[in-house]
Amino acid sequence: MKIRYNGKEYVFDGKTIEEFLKSNNLWSNEILVAEINGTKWDLTRPLTGFTGTIELKTYTFDDEKGKQTFWHTSAHILAQAVKRLFPHAKIAIGPSISEGFYYDFDIKLSEDDLKKIEEEMKKVIKENLKIERMELSYDKSKKMFKDEPYKLELIEDFNNEGYKLSAYKQGEFVDLCQGPHLPSTGYVKAVKLIKLAGAYWRGDARNKMLTRVYGISFPKKEMLKEYLYRIEEAKKRDHRKLGRELDLFSLHEEGPGFVFWHHKGIVLRNILMDFWRKVHYANGYQEVSTPIILCKELWIQSGHWDHYKDNMYFTKIDDKDYAIKPMNCPGGILVYKSRPRSYKEFPLKMGEFGLVHRHELSGVLHGLLRVRAFIQDDAHIFCEEEQMKHEIKQVVKLVGSVYKVFGFQYHVEVSTRPEDRVGSNEIWDKAESALIEVVKELNLEYKINEGDGAFYGPKIDFHIKDTLGRTWQCATVQLDFNMPERFNLTYMGRDGTYNHRPVMIHRTVYGSLERFVGILIEHYAGKFPLWLNPVQVKLLSVADRHIEKAKSIGEKLVEKGFRAEYDFENLSISKKVRNAELEKVNYIIVIGDKDSEESLAIRNREGKVEKMSLQQFIEKMKKEIAEPYKIVGLKG
Ligand SMILES: [Zn+2]
Ligand SMILES: [Zn+2]
Repeated sequence: MKIRYNGKEYVFDGKTIEEFLKSNNLWSNEILVAEINGTKWDLTRPLTGFTGTIELKTYTFDDEKGKQTFWHTSAHILAQAVKRLFPHAKIAIGPSISEGFYYDFDIKLSEDDLKKIEEEMKKVIKENLKIERMELSYDKSKKMFKDEPYKLELIEDFNNEGYKLSAYKQGEFVDLCQGPHLPSTGYVKAVKLIKLAGAYWRGDARNKMLTRVYGISFPKKEMLKEYLYRIEEAKKRDHRKLGRELDLFSLHEEGPGFVFWHHKGIVLRNILMDFWRKVHYANGYQEVSTPIILCKELWIQSGHWDHYKDNMYFTKIDDKDYAIKPMNCPGGILVYKSRPRSYKEFPLKMGEFGLVHRHELSGVLHGLLRVRAFIQDDAHIFCEEEQMKHEIKQVVKLVGSVYKVFGFQYHVEVSTRPEDRVGSNEIWDKAESALIEVVKELNLEYKINEGDGAFYGPKIDFHIKDTLGRTWQCATVQLDFNMPERFNLTYMGRDGTYNHRPVMIHRTVYGSLERFVGILIEHYAGKFPLWLNPVQVKLLSVADRHIEKAKSIGEKLVEKGFRAEYDFENLSISKKVRNAELEKVNYIIVIGDKDSEESLAIRNREGKVEKMSLQQFIEKMKKEIAEPYKIVGLKG
């Protein structure tokens, strides 16, 4: 038998991948699972039935496939622990999930039981039981699982679907499973059971409600610590909680998925919009605004009616059908068509803060991150085909510089033609290869998302990484040959005729302002940098006789364009400082007898107090606020 691994070919006569790796000095304890000719394979499973050259890959916890195997094996350990403590519990299924694993049991469990089960799991891990695969006949598997009704049901299904039946054994515990698994239970070095939930057998409400136990596990103890820290930190940073505490926005049952912005939230949103305008105007963008309600015929022409209807809301005016716009494109196209266009005005970059409505299922709504109405910082670029690659590069660079302002790392993904789409394959070939050329020429690391493009064109999506290492999809650049065709867009070329079709690029930088604000709240944990903070300075009076003085200083700050608030309550000064700290303002100024415009005690968010005059303080803040503008090449 021959094995090809990491670009090299080996001759091998042994039994398992583990043996192969060990005999060639390729073994490492980090390797969790193998893949043979595209099929996942236990490291200890005998290599039978293979001829010719085997393509071997191996995976560690750093790989998605390695993680799945690790977490799925942990689910078996969980089931084993439950069976030891509660022998009458019936076991159902136990898959890995995006973070961790679960197992469903037919037994009632309490929070106290979780602790006990976790302890028992640690014992199973310590015993470092070998995990062995068994191939089973239908009859043998029925006998083996005669006391497990859920497994018996699965055996029937698998058998009917023509699957080969198999089970895995670790110590006294055997589970019906396709595998693969880790070689032994000792690979798991840290485990934590997270929570209990109810779950219907097979997700069907007509079936019995089972108890689902969620857990997480890792190959290193520190990794669990880091994970738990991240979870705690994420809870503290939850934008819904901070949004309430900082008085930015609220959500109400009366409008599910629709955001109620409070004054401070609007201030924040306006800062982002002003910044956007400065950046875009400086980069040659125009700004337009198009209606949110447009007639049905327009949406039929754009293709939204056939390919996007499920996400749209509709209304009637004078008995005529209209749709609430889910995208701004048709509106932008009508502006383009309002007069003849010439190559001389290309690239024509038309920006729009467009309020779009998209129907999302109520179950997926999540604070500002998943809403039903949002402002898109949209723009449509109309240009000649020869210009499109350059223009896409400009957009990618623009997005990169704006993300730098917020300290976001990011990676890009190229999404290709979906099943449900408009346009010919030739057009899609051309558009997809143009996007891939652009990311290659810009030396960007990228991933391909097959079939995830918009219905009218492929796209480059930007996934940003926040301070907790979580990724969010925000900006997008989409290349579109289809809409210009469907709307018969033309321009006058160098030959003086209008026999020319422009290319259309759709793009956003923030993506959705709602979502972007949500991400920023969690990214900064509510501690916004000075230029973004809705309240930058809080002035506190020591006694009532200091109120006038504090007001006059505050007014001078406001005159200069800063955002200042007061606290003149009759509370102790330490209490007032504490309150201002909770509001996460950038600077606190306590005004007492000794304080004046010539000498103020400026306290920053870290609690450091610095003496300076009002003028010096203003200069200091001006400098701080100019930073983001410098990054994008603006004066501020
Ligand atoms: Zn399994
Ligand atoms: Zn568009």
